[in-house]
Amino acid sequence: MKTASELQQLYRGKKITPTEVAEDFIRAIERLEPKLHTLAWWDPAWVRKQAGDLVKRGPSPSPLWGVPVLVKDNICVRGIPTTCASKILGGFRPPYDATVVGKLKRAGAILLGMANMDEFAFGSSCEHSSYGPTRNPWDTGRVPGGSSGGSAAAVAAGLTPLALGSDTGGSIRQPASFCGVVGMKPTYGRVSRYGLIAFASSLDQIGPIAGTVADCGLLLQTIAGFDERDSTSGNVPVTDLIQGLEGGVRGLKCGVPREYFVGGVDREVQEALEKAIAQLSKLGVAVEEVSMPHTEYAIPTYYVLATAEASSNLARFDGVQYGHRSKSVGAGNQLLEMYMKSRDEGFGPEAKRRIILGTFVLSSGYYEAYYGRALQVRTLIQRDFNEALKKVDCLITPTSPTPAFRLGEKMSDPLTMYLSDIFTISVYEQSNSWHKQEPKVSMRQ
Ligand code: GLN
Repeated sequence: MKTASELQQLYRGKKITPTEVAEDFIRAIERLEPKLHTLAWWDPAWVRKQAGDLVKRGPSPSPLWGVPVLVKDNICVRGIPTTCASKILGGFRPPYDATVVGKLKRAGAILLGMANMDEFAFGSSCEHSSYGPTRNPWDTGRVPGGSSGGSAAAVAAGLTPLALGSDTGGSIRQPASFCGVVGMKPTYGRVSRYGLIAFASSLDQIGPIAGTVADCGLLLQTIAGFDERDSTSGNVPVTDLIQGLEGGVRGLKCGVPREYFVGGVDREVQEALEKAIAQLSKLGVAVEEVSMPHTEYAIPTYYVLATAEASSNLARFDGVQYGHRSKSVGAGNQLLEMYMKSRDEGFGPEAKRRIILGTFVLSSGYYEAYYGRALQVRTLIQRDFNEALKKVDCLITPTSPTPAFRLGEKMSDPLTMYLSDIFTISVYEQSNSWHKQEPKVSMRQ
């Protein structure tokens, strides 16, 4: 299957048409989807219609013209079922496009459908989906990672060149790593979240998943930029991300955090990392050890903050405005019963666990002890990053302590699942600095 950059070249040479490309990917999905289950929703007729419209309108200079993109099921597409892989949003068709979706449509991308995910993006394996789990294309007995597991698996299997994911504490990076593709969490504020169904608002970001770094850049530069409909989006111009790729990495200083290797990292991961470091050194990168002393607090801090924000964000799903409403409510004025039954029937076990935990840490009498304290520790972790990044230009870490694990392996023990997020959840601590700082390595200087 072709990458987005290759498709762009072929279109420019008039060697292919959007209809041919759409048919290729439709065939691929029809063949492999029954084995992998990467999609929450798709309709080949909708894909063909978009391709046909592009042919009618004619080519545009946008690099994503005629390029297929899969959308994670928590990013609103007007008129298309968008459910966060949850029964509580069953039948919900948003009346508007997320900003990123609008940008893709204007760029002439072909939307292939909605990608499977962990319900409301709660998870690291794509097993917490009301549609059932997605499988890893490299070994279908293993998970693709999560929560953007459908997006990453579809890219890895060649069912789409590009996919959108969302990353709160690793949901793009970890599945991309488990499936051997490229994914990144953009800096907080880089990409508008208007139309992303919120999990934890101080952490969520939409970002790209692709087969190559260049493709990742193409998708990111298409969706990035200030949006007045998202007050947290950064008002910083979008630069050409592809040009810089040719520059090489010679002269960069790269830090390896000591605390990331104190036991628990699988030998296979350790070896892969050592190889990557050796390769970077060969290319002229100076690698040195740095210290991030508050790393051990990252998991409890994240799981207090993220669940607190999630419980608040998910309060809106009450059976009244959209999504599932329980049919088994007695006659008369039974509002409370309707809320309770609708939420009980609509949310899966992991969503309930997060809502209960988050409600607890925000409850009166505990708020300061848990939520307030977690905010303070977050500042300490943020300082770790700031200190380390004074000495080096970038950090190199594993994405996950283990390679892709087996389906079902961690489902009965939520804590083990949470612990696998150790290397991805803490980068959010940089989030708030977007408006104040200039990156050390920047095309803008
Ligand atoms: N695995 C993490 C969690 O379960 C991160 C999820 C995400 O980034 N959406 O919270």
